[in-house]
Amino acid sequence: MSAEIRSREMIERLIAFDTTSRNSNLALIDYVRDYLAGHGVESRLTHDESGAKANLYATLGPDDKPGIMLSGHTDVVPVDGQEWESDPWTVIEREGLLYGRGTSDMKSFIAIALSYVPEMLARGLETPINLAFSHDEEVGCVGVHGLIRDFANLPVKPFVCIVGEPTEMRVVSAHKGKRSYICRVKGHECHSSLVHTGVNAVEVAAEIVAHLRKMARRFRDEGPHDRDYEPHYTSVHTGTIQGGTALNIVPKDCRFEFEWRYLPQHDPEAIFAEVEALARSLEPEMQAIAPETGIAFEERSAIAGLDTDPGEEVVALVRALTGGNDTGKVSFGTEAGAFQRAEIPTVVCGPGSVEQAHKPNEFIRLEQIRLCEAFMDRLLERVCRGG
Ligand SMILES: [Zn+2]
Repeated sequence: MSAEIRSREMIERLIAFDTTSRNSNLALIDYVRDYLAGHGVESRLTHDESGAKANLYATLGPDDKPGIMLSGHTDVVPVDGQEWESDPWTVIEREGLLYGRGTSDMKSFIAIALSYVPEMLARGLETPINLAFSHDEEVGCVGVHGLIRDFANLPVKPFVCIVGEPTEMRVVSAHKGKRSYICRVKGHECHSSLVHTGVNAVEVAAEIVAHLRKMARRFRDEGPHDRDYEPHYTSVHTGTIQGGTALNIVPKDCRFEFEWRYLPQHDPEAIFAEVEALARSLEPEMQAIAPETGIAFEERSAIAGLDTDPGEEVVALVRALTGGNDTGKVSFGTEAGAFQRAEIPTVVCGPGSVEQAHKPNEFIRLEQIRLCEAFMDRLLERVCRGG
């Protein structure tokens, strides 16, 4: 077996773009567009409102037939405050591992797909391959919606999708969904000796937080349950809270953030409706003292759960491409749920491990890259002429 990997140069190039989600990803997108154009492949870009970020979608082979979509996000999480032993934006190899921000999550998959483009085109594609590279996944799968909306302008949609998030090349057919919110409680400030004339925003927030904790226990104890997940229930959690200025002032503001990571069969709207109903029930007492008080929620992110039927064609197809036969479920969210909601049967399968994602000294094993390249070789056998 050859020790060299064919996609190394492309991995190095993509890692070198600092595409931390807060930055523009256009330098990377332009590079990919130019690379594809150099092979005679046109790209469709869909920009965000600021114009500083874009998704890229391209079709290799016939554009009037449904294809197999290879999907990945171009953004990475920040390196701020992390102790890196090498430059995060320069790939270095040590003992069979390639280090760099995004090596596992998830530029290697994109780079491997891109490095197969010349061979795909040279061999000729009977079944098209669609490339879909998004922006702003790491901040709540925000960017991919623009790409999905653009499907309405295409002659055909892909018939299956493979999201190359790191699963160590195992086929993942289901993952939890996630919702996150900011809650702002507006109270009424006064001297703390006159509590009856104020509305204590911290205490109102505490009632909601305590209710969220009750919901968390209820989901844990009463379900729904699915033993394939860890934890095997919908988890609810409050992550930050700020409020108050001094002990002798009844606080007028409190803000907290909370989330749930829900089983695909759990309705996130129903969960939110319960929290909102509680908030509405607290407001009359607040507003009887000061009418300007109240409780507001802002949705921060909504990641759809993925629940692809193990009997779907995409599961058998991708299993065959990996050479394995197990199908798993994971607790982290991906863009796969959004593609499933757009009625494209989707699985998650990509090189690297989520264990290394988001951490300092992120790496991918060369072995994982070889497995993904073998996957691409099998994919080409399947989609190319005479294959
Ligand atoms: Zn990712």
